[in-house]
Amino acid sequence: MLRRILLPLLSALALTLVSVVPATADPAEQPRRMSQTVLYYDSSQAAEYTSAVAAAVNVWNSSVDNVRLEPAPAGRRAEIRVITDDGWPRAHLGPVRPGGQVTVWMGRQGTAEGYDAIRIAAHELGHSLGLPDAKPGPCSSLMSGSTGGVNCTNRAPNASERSRVEANYGSGLAGRSVTDGRLLVDRL
Ligand SMILES: [Zn+2]
Repeated sequence: MLRRILLPLLSALALTLVSVVPATADPAEQPRRMSQTVLYYDSSQAAEYTSAVAAAVNVWNSSVDNVRLEPAPAGRRAEIRVITDDGWPRAHLGPVRPGGQVTVWMGRQGTAEGYDAIRIAAHELGHSLGLPDAKPGPCSSLMSGSTGGVNCTNRAPNASERSRVEANYGSGLAGRSVTDGRLLVDRL
């Protein structure tokens, strides 16, 4: 008799408990990994290279999982500032961390010599994410920079460049390394 009353009661209680647990977090947040580092960039001073910088950001966001670049909302300090000037393309060496700050200069000398603006932007952002130059190197390497050739339009990091950035923002030792801060000038 008691069982006949208790069992339906217990199963009703179990159903209630299940139903009050939120099914999942915000579905829009699901592709983002819990451990993903978000860095904000400010390209408001990138002038004519603004769209090249956005394209280079898309390249990085589709190439790595452990770090993601997003435009800084108004009033928020950006970890990566992008500034266009008349010098050579150059950048501080990262990996920059949330709350830190590095600068990318989209120097006009690079495109004046005929080099691809998006490849330059992706290369300089590679420095922000902790990749040093890999010169001389082939066009298939993003960090080979100008040594990849003036006609090189490869904007994508290769497998080892991708895995190094993943490690720089991963949970291992490399993921805790501090920003180098050196200024790397991509002079021809
Ligand atoms: Zn470089």
